[in-house]
Order: sequence, then C-alpha cells, then structure tokens
Amino acid sequence: LQTKLPAVGTTIFTVMSALAAEKGAVNLGQGFPDFDCDPRLVNAVTDAMQHGLNQYPPMTGVPTLRAAVAAKIEAMYGRTYDPATEITITAGATQAIITIILAVVRPGDEVIVLEPCYDSYVPNIELAGGTVVRVPLTPGTFRPDFDKIAGALTPRTRAILVNSPHNPSATVWTREDMLKLQELLAPTETLVISDEVYEHMVFDAKDHQSVARFPGLAARSFIVSSFGKTYHVTGWKVGYVAAPESLTTEFRKVHQFNVFTVNTPVQHGLAAYMADPQPYLQLPAFYQRKRDLFREGLKRTKFKLLPSEGSYFQCVDISAVSDLPEADFCKWLTSEVGVAAIPLSAFYESGFDQRVVRFCFAKKDETLNTALDRLARL
Ligand code: PMP
Ligand code: GLN
Repeated sequence: LQTKLPAVGTTIFTVMSALAAEKGAVNLGQGFPDFDCDPRLVNAVTDAMQHGLNQYPPMTGVPTLRAAVAAKIEAMYGRTYDPATEITITAGATQAIITIILAVVRPGDEVIVLEPCYDSYVPNIELAGGTVVRVPLTPGTFRPDFDKIAGALTPRTRAILVNSPHNPSATVWTREDMLKLQELLAPTETLVISDEVYEHMVFDAKDHQSVARFPGLAARSFIVSSFGKTYHVTGWKVGYVAAPESLTTEFRKVHQFNVFTVNTPVQHGLAAYMADPQPYLQLPAFYQRKRDLFREGLKRTKFKLLPSEGSYFQCVDISAVSDLPEADFCKWLTSEVGVAAIPLSAFYESGFDQRVVRFCFAKKDETLNTALDRLARL
C-alpha cells in the first residue's frame, strides 16, 4: 500500500498519555486540565439537552454562539465579524485547522510553518498536497526571525501558520511582531492561519495580539480558537474560525463535507455561558498563579527554567539533569520518576534535540506539588 503520510506515527500526546497511564505517572505531558469546568457550564449544556436541542444545528453553527463569539472578538480586539458570514463553529481547533488548509492549499502551494510547531500542521499541509516550508524560530528564545520569514516568502507562498501564545515554547508575539508580519505580507497574497487557541492565557499584564487587531492581517487571516482551552473542557472539542466573508465561504465549502456541523447542546450551553465574560477575563490570573506556583517549585530542581509568557506550558532545559536525548528522557521521567513531559523534538521535522522538554501546568495545585516533589529528587 502506498500510504499518504509515510513519515507519520502516533501523535506524541497519545503516546505519552498512554505511558503515563500505564506507569501511574503524574501526567504533565498532554495539555489538558485535571480539574473540572464551571458547573454552570455543565448546567447550561444539560438544560439545552433537556429542552430538546438535540438535532442538527445549522451547518455553520448555532446562531447565538456565533453571535457570542463575534461580540467577544469585538470587545477584546475591536474588530467586527459578521456572525452570519464570517464565523463558523468547528469541532475544536484541530478540525478548524485541517479544514482551512484543505480549503485553501492547492497541490504545489507553499505553506510556511515556524518550527517548533504544533504537530498537526505539517501532516495537514501534506494531505492537501502543499509543500511545507519550515522556518525556524530563533533557537533559545523561540522568537520569530522576520529576516528568515522574508527569505522564505515566494510568489507560491499560499499561507503562513502563526501561533501565539505558542505551543510548545510558551512565547507570546508582541505588537511589534504583528506589525512586522503585517508589513512583510502587505505586498503578497499570502494568507495567515492564526492559531489563537491560548488567546486567554497571556501573563504579566500583557495583551494577546490577535491578528484581528491589525486590519492588514485580519483581511487575509483565518483566526482559530478553542472553547476546550478557554473553559477547561478539552474533551468537548468545540472551537471556531473567524475570517472575512470570502475566506469563510471557502472554509464552509469544506467544513460542510468533513464534519457538516458540531454538537448542538454543547453549542447552546456555550452560547448561554458566554453571556458572562468573567470566566475568560479571569483566565490569565487563574493560570498565572499556577504558572508561578510551578515555577517557584521548579527552582528547587536542577532544571533550568525558560520563560512562560502565555499558554499553559512551561519549558525547561534538562542539561543539568540528564544526558539522555529529550524523547528518551521523557520516557525515563515518566517510567522511573513518575512525571510525564513532552520532548520539544516532537515539534520539529528532524527531531532537533536542544535538551528542552515541556510541562503542562493546567493541573490542580496538589498535582503540581506531587510532580514537583518528584522532580526535586533528581
Ligand atoms: N493548536 C494548538 C497550538 C494546540 O495546542 C491545540 C490543542 N493541543 C490545538 C490546536 C487543538 O485544539 P482542539 O483541542 O480544540 O482541537
Ligand atoms: N494540544 C495539546 C497539547 O499540546 C494536546 C492535544 C492533543 O492531544 N492532540 O498537549
């Protein structure tokens, strides 16, 4: 059989979570909370089910949820998206991203990814027949290198994927970064796929720089977000895409045939819950406290801390702890120390090994403290 993705195995998140479960390790690998969501959100979904909202919703998503998303984007980033023609509810960010790529990338088109990058991007581009153009983020700091990005742009560059706050490095793009991207793309027809799933997790009183804030970017961008991250419900798999009408039209042509539409009662529940902005407005403080608790604890260990400006990840340099390659180290840490982590090499094509691993701190304090006690013994 000639396979379509010969180089692709099972995603690192599944591999590490399975190993963590098998070994009974504290799972700081795959990114998901080990605490529950707000009971009011569960009640809102249950209410919808009990009121018979259990059949197909509109293909583009429940209108009240699309309107709530548009209102949120306008309040946070000052740009108006028409819920009827510019917002689509998706089965999480994962389906949103593959659908965007299938909708716009034609065979032979080049698509720029900034490495390290989330593990679904490259296989998605390959499935669409696109050519992946890898541009490294600056080693050590993981900041975008605009000279390198400029050097990678060609008349065939159909799209660039950007992701801030960034998984796995936990860096956040600044306003200046976004302005540079806007300037660089101005003379081109390149589209932007902006993965903003951690938009509500930016720390130290900084603001998330959504592409929606920058007219020259917004006009060429698909914005992707995920309710799973924002409301502690990663298993519900609901997200959205916001994009100008012409892009949304293309997006929906594919969306209608790869998922058609998304879980009705969950959409109604989310729409009702979103009437109160407090849950997402309080998220930065909620996660910053966990980040600080985790970082304080890591200071008792031999790991060297990298900055964590946003997302729910903390990267560390393992050089002073072990000589093992990152991937082997993560397996060893899970099996022998009882703490699962994700090797950064999993986010690079060639498995580039820079002695850095990623922990997820979206966990109960007691979970973080148990993990920290184990890590402090190394
Ligand atoms: N993009 C990034 C950067 C992510 O970290 C994740 C979740 N791990 C996703 C997309 C996928 O989000 P969802 O669970 O909503 O599909
Ligand atoms: N996005 C999550 C992470 O980076 C995992 C999502 C998944 O398991 N596919 O850990």
